[in-house]
This record gives sequence, C-alpha cells and structure tokens, in this order.
Amino acid sequence: MKRVLITGAAGFLGSHLCDKFLSEGYYVIGMDNFLTGSEDNISHLFGNKNFEFVHHDVTKFVHVSGELDYILHFASPASPIDYLEMPIQTLKVGSLAPYNLLGLARVKGARFIIASTSEVYGDPNIHPQPESYWGNVNPIGPRGVYDEAKRFQEAITMGYHTFHGVNTGMVRIFNTYGPRMRLNDGRALPAFMSQALRGEDITVFGDGSQTRSFCYVDDLVNGIFKLTLSDEHQPINIGNPQEITIKEFAEEIVELTGSGSKVIYQDLPKDDPKQRRPDITRAKEILNWEPKVGREQGLKRTLEYFQEKVQTQTV
Ligand code: NAD
Ligand code: UDP
Repeated sequence: MKRVLITGAAGFLGSHLCDKFLSEGYYVIGMDNFLTGSEDNISHLFGNKNFEFVHHDVTKFVHVSGELDYILHFASPASPIDYLEMPIQTLKVGSLAPYNLLGLARVKGARFIIASTSEVYGDPNIHPQPESYWGNVNPIGPRGVYDEAKRFQEAITMGYHTFHGVNTGMVRIFNTYGPRMRLNDGRALPAFMSQALRGEDITVFGDGSQTRSFCYVDDLVNGIFKLTLSDEHQPINIGNPQEITIKEFAEEIVELTGSGSKVIYQDLPKDDPKQRRPDITRAKEILNWEPKVGREQGLKRTLEYFQEKVQTQTV
C-alpha cells in the first residue's frame, strides 16, 4: 500500500485530498495544527484504518516513521483575511515548512508536491495566465506575505529538484470552492453565500468589475491526483477557465439562494488583482485534465453545505 503525507489535512483542500487518496487505496497520514482548519473536516476519517492524524506545526522539524511515497504540502493560511491576520505564520509555512518537508522527501525518496497559487502571478498584466508568465507581485504590499512565500516555496522546491534530485511537482491553484470552506474565511464565495442565506447585504469590494475563475473542488482534486502520479517537475495551472466578474458572481449567488439580499459596494482591498483566468493548456496536454463541473452545478452542491452550516452555526 502506497503511503502519502498530506499537510494542511484539516483544511478545505487538504481534507478533500485525504478523501481522494483514501478512495484510491492509499494509506494517508494527515498533518495539521488547526491554525485555520477544523477537526470537523476530517472527523469522518478517524475510524478509517488507512488514515492516521498527526497534530503538528510543520514549520517545526517534521518526523514521520516508515516509508513515504508522496508528500503533499498544503498547509498555509489561504484566504486574504487569514494571511493578513497571520503574516508571520504564512511566511514560515511557505518557507521553513517546505525546507523541512523537502528534507523529509529526500530522506524517504518521496515525490514532493507543493500547493502553489495563481497569486504568484500577482495582479497580472498577461491574460489569461500561462505558467511561463513571471507575474506582477508587490513584495511589500499586504498580499506580499502570501505571494512571496509561495514564490519562495516554488524556488526552494525547484532548488531541491535540480541540486538534490528530489522528485518534485508544483500545482498553481486558481480560486477553488466547495463544501468545507469556512463560512467566515472572508473569501468571496463563503462571504456571499452566508450573507445571502442570512438575508444580509452582499459586500462586493470595489465596483465588482474585477474577475476571477472559480473551480469546483472535485475537479481540482482530480487534477492534483493526476499531477502527483505524473513525473512532471514544472508548475502546472489547475483551475476552471470560466471567468466571471465579482459583481456577476454575487448576483448569481443571490439568484441561486432566492435571497432578498441587495448588493452593496465597499472599498477594494489594496493590490486586489483586477483579472484572473488560468491558461490550462499544459494541464490538458501533460495530465489529460480539464474541469468537468460547471459553476451552476458546483454552486448548487456548495449551497447544500452552506445551508446546513448557516442553520447550525452562529458565526
Ligand atoms: P485552509 O485554510 O482551509 O487549509 C489550510 C490548512 O493548513 C488548515 O487546516 C490549517 O490549520 C493548516 N495549517 C496552516 N499552517 C499550518 C502549520 N504551520 N502546520 C500545520 N498545519 C498548518 O486553506 P485551503 O483553501 O484548503 O488551502 C490549502 C492550500 O492550497 C494552501 O497552501 C493554499 O495556499 C493553497 N491554495 C488554495 C486555493 C483555494 O482556492 N482554496 C487557491 C490557491 C492556493
Ligand atoms: N470580494 C468581495 N467581497 C467579499 C470578499 C471578496 O468583493 O466579501 C472580492 C475580492 O476583493 C476579490 C474577489 O472577490 O476581488 C475574490 O476574493 P477572494 O478573497 O475569494 O479570493 P482572491 O482575492 O484571493 O482571489
């Protein structure tokens, strides 16, 4: 049985990755310190004999006994309000943690995959964004702690590949949504859905003309699974190229929920990217991957989760 270590296992994406690898017959070691994650996301796995959970801060030395075939480093605050509140933890988990985990991958002979991000392109001047684009990032702006940590993470990963021959891969993840997102994590989808379900005003930042391209979590996880099993070392964009303005996205959610909420406009955060859409040519060619779930279907599936959460939670 192949063994995989997943950091950030109690988070949104990490918990779905645990489910995916378990369903494909792997032994999964999930590691997390619950900085932004929740036990609720993985409690359904606690009785599974092929799953083991380790409570650990991966910015500290990481020890795992036994063999490891794959290491997926997904631990990191990921929403803008999280990384603005926790800038130093964000910088550490993008730098000290990959340093620790690359050392572990080297010792174990494991393939090492990092969760990189479309944020490495910053506020992009090229549209859509291919992997060959080097980006437009403000290192000392509020988002710099996240963007530059992720860029360093790519650099150290490539360094260990070229210098030590570690088998590495990098996924540049574009905005992804689905069940297990935190209601109050401040990202557009959880904010709009919980506001719509509570009948509160929908807070669109700026004039809402900025664009994003939202990918349903199952599609993303399938792409990451294929990348893990491949021997690709260069970065690969995984995301859904279906692009929408944030204003239209808010209106779609109001309509889907049947809410009487109205859209209000608030200040645009500094350095908020104006446009974002993945060029997924490489994912198609190298991984034979493309997204299957359209926004209408994905949002319906996500709504069921949020309806239940809004009913049972007060935050
Ligand atoms: P999340 O906040 O839901 O999950 C992150 C997890 O990492 C949490 O469970 C948190 O407790 C854990 N964590 C943070 N610091 C840790 C530490 N020092 N030690 C151990 N665990 C730690 O976020 P997510 O949306 O699931 O994102 C997962 C990864 O994917 C992140 O690396 C993020 O940068 C990347 N990513 C996500 C998206 C997206 O749209 N969701 C887009 C681009 C990149
Ligand atoms: N956004 C918004 N209202 C909110 C939360 C976010 O208008 O309550 C906007 C945000 O300014 C950005 C877009 O929605 O332009 C996507 O934001 P998110 O935090 O989801 O992701 P990211 O900015 O990291 O792509």
